[in-house]
Amino acid sequence: MDLAHERYEALERNILCANPSADVRRIRAAFEYANDHHGPQLRKSGEPYIIHPIAVAEIVNELELDQDSIIAALLHDCIEDTDSTHDDIARLFSPQIADLVEGVTKLTRMQYTSREDEQMENLRKMFMAMAKDVRVILIKLCDRLHNMRTLQYQSDKKQKEKALETMEVYAPIAHRLGMQKLKWELEDLALEYLDPVGYHDVKEELANITTLHAGFVDNMQAHIEQRLSEEGVKCRVYGRLKHIYSIYRKMYAQSKTLNEIFDLYAFRVIVDDIPACYNVLGCVHDMFKPVLGRFKDYIGTPKPNNYQSLHTTVVGREGIPFEVQIRTWQMHQTAEYGVAAHWKYKEGMANERLGTEREFEWVRKLLESQQDADPDEFVRTLRVDMFSDEVFVFTPNGDVKSLPAGATPIDFAYSIHSAVGNSMTGARVNGRIVTFETPLKNGDIVEIITSKSARGPSRDWMKICKSNEARNKIRQWFKKERREENIATGRAMFESELRHLGLTLAAITATPDLLDTLLKRVRFGSLDELYAAIGYGGLSAQKAAGRMREEMNRLGRLERQRAEHEAMQAAVSSGETVYPSTGKAAAPPPRHSVSGIIVEGLDNCMVKFSKCCTPVPGDPVVGFITKGYGVSIHRKDCPNADPARRKPEEEGRWVKVSWAQAGESTFRTSLEISAKDRDGLALDVAMALSAQKAKLNTLAARSQPDGYAIINLELYVQDQRELNGVINKLSQIPGVFLVRRAGG
Ligand code: MN
Repeated sequence: MDLAHERYEALERNILCANPSADVRRIRAAFEYANDHHGPQLRKSGEPYIIHPIAVAEIVNELELDQDSIIAALLHDCIEDTDSTHDDIARLFSPQIADLVEGVTKLTRMQYTSREDEQMENLRKMFMAMAKDVRVILIKLCDRLHNMRTLQYQSDKKQKEKALETMEVYAPIAHRLGMQKLKWELEDLALEYLDPVGYHDVKEELANITTLHAGFVDNMQAHIEQRLSEEGVKCRVYGRLKHIYSIYRKMYAQSKTLNEIFDLYAFRVIVDDIPACYNVLGCVHDMFKPVLGRFKDYIGTPKPNNYQSLHTTVVGREGIPFEVQIRTWQMHQTAEYGVAAHWKYKEGMANERLGTEREFEWVRKLLESQQDADPDEFVRTLRVDMFSDEVFVFTPNGDVKSLPAGATPIDFAYSIHSAVGNSMTGARVNGRIVTFETPLKNGDIVEIITSKSARGPSRDWMKICKSNEARNKIRQWFKKERREENIATGRAMFESELRHLGLTLAAITATPDLLDTLLKRVRFGSLDELYAAIGYGGLSAQKAAGRMREEMNRLGRLERQRAEHEAMQAAVSSGETVYPSTGKAAAPPPRHSVSGIIVEGLDNCMVKFSKCCTPVPGDPVVGFITKGYGVSIHRKDCPNADPARRKPEEEGRWVKVSWAQAGESTFRTSLEISAKDRDGLALDVAMALSAQKAKLNTLAARSQPDGYAIINLELYVQDQRELNGVINKLSQIPGVFLVRRAGG
């Protein structure tokens, strides 16, 4: 038996393993057909060409795609590289399989240049293929993966080109489709050619560090498994090093050293159901110290590509941090295979049309989702994401129109021609009459019904349509056709908006000067012009009225300032003390009595307590003679007073200060409490303070996304002794793990 047949037999065994009811007769026919057609062709590696389609079919089978996909993978280069045609394949296999092969061929023929707009165009085509049948993209990804695995046989130039294209086009698409495993391999392979030095550096460093941590993964895995089995949790634990490209990115893009990367190692715990996930999380946090702020619940809030898991980073006994991902088996399927997982349980359905409405919807939503948890990833996939706000629909002749997401038949009509929009009386989508508001979906066939006696667009259409093109064309129509009517409608809309803001038209028109200024501000020569613009939709009534109010407020403010300025001048000349108005409530009088502190060598000087470290009596302190604001008092341990950081030219301005005998005065200071968030936490803090007779000025509590809370307090105390009492008391509140003074 020759090499090709040997390889094919192995593939067939694997297919039967995954799907015992597979129709191997058809699959074998596809192999024989491809083998005959590729004939004596060789790959750059010197192997018979047919080895490549077999290898692609192997990957397709590993993804557990359906039988048509496996057959299409075997045939995928036939149209491209042999005399085989779409018709041949349609006749011998099925029209669906022929469409798949042709789809892959079209993607293969695309030239991915670095020119931005051409790349956009390619991605657009790719999206269209995807919208028609996602399997085309999945097969193309498998094809690319095998080509990347065998890239060493290509020329240097070709290697760089293919690697770049893989990094920029294919890996982001795999990511978007949620196919992590495939994406990682594509990225690592591409990196090896794009930055061989960086790739091997990371690889070597990883090898060194893993030698240093010898046995870590195995030990930890056994340790976690043992504990969970003691707890009666049924699970599988897998440990691994993260893939090279993810580490490379952190080291180079975020300039971190290997030691600063918290998640070099990742452990996966896979369980049967969601409650078990949270149960495992509890055990893991009990076994190891969690790293604050690293817990993420993607079960409660899945990622846009439907990824679900609990993530946490913990530190083991050896001091090595590692990530733990906890998920159910079903979540695991989606995480590894993404959209491909949807075909997994479809055995024996090969003849049915697979891309059903529901699945199609799912892919569309996936592509529409805009946010991504990881900003790096987001930037990298931006180009793919740009399609998320577009919808592709067809004219009855099969021409493609791209419209903004949520577009309606109105947008569609105006995208053909303004005359079509202006004479539109109805619309059909996929043969059914629909209302004008109906949002169009990818792949819809839209037909516009027009009539010569149509009355033209309605004003409501401008609210319904999504594209600027449609809105502008409708506006144009109104502008031309209905000036009188526009003025009347515009005036009514403007007046109603003004009333909304508590203004009247009379108040504006009463003073001609004011009216002129206001009109200039909105750039109209007369009120009628303004009304007409509002009437045809060139300017929203809300905006126009808002601008008017802004302008009136501004004029009013100018007037008040002028009056205030004059009053101030009058007061100064009469010798009064004046405070310029700041618009805020007057600042409270200074709280610190000058007698609280003794500055060596200076009598009766002005003293203020620095905001950075808020010293209280009893704290060791030091003073700094400021330029013009007296002496500012810092705690000796305040970083701003650190002798090592003082500027030499200012050395002479640091002075010794000490606390005077305790007086009646109190001192304001700030504390920060870190605690596990829970109900009633802030209340307990307030109670503890009142028990200590500490006077609270402000309390601000913020919940952190990771289940912790930070509380900032400002309070008045007599001295350090009292402050220490407060800190002590606060530390005893359940859940509080750190109380520290702000600054210092
Ligand atoms: Mn190929």
